[in-house]
Amino acid sequence: MKVTVDDDRCRGHGACLGLAPEVFTLTDGGYAEAIAGAVPVEFESVVEEAVSACPERAIVVE
Ligand code: SF4
Repeated sequence: MKVTVDDDRCRGHGACLGLAPEVFTLTDGGYAEAIAGAVPVEFESVVEEAVSACPERAIVVE
């Protein structure tokens, strides 16, 4: 699994960070950013939760 954040959609609410702080960080600009490369398997389910929790539908999973 790879995950990215669409920065045109992200509004920096931080729901993703609360659920998966190992995967998402907040940039200096106040928007979320996902780790580069593959998501470790142990975090895949919480990433799916973050996708559902994002009010802007900004999290994209491949
Ligand atoms: S939950 Fe969605 S809108 Fe909020 S910071 Fe995360 S990616 Fe951005």
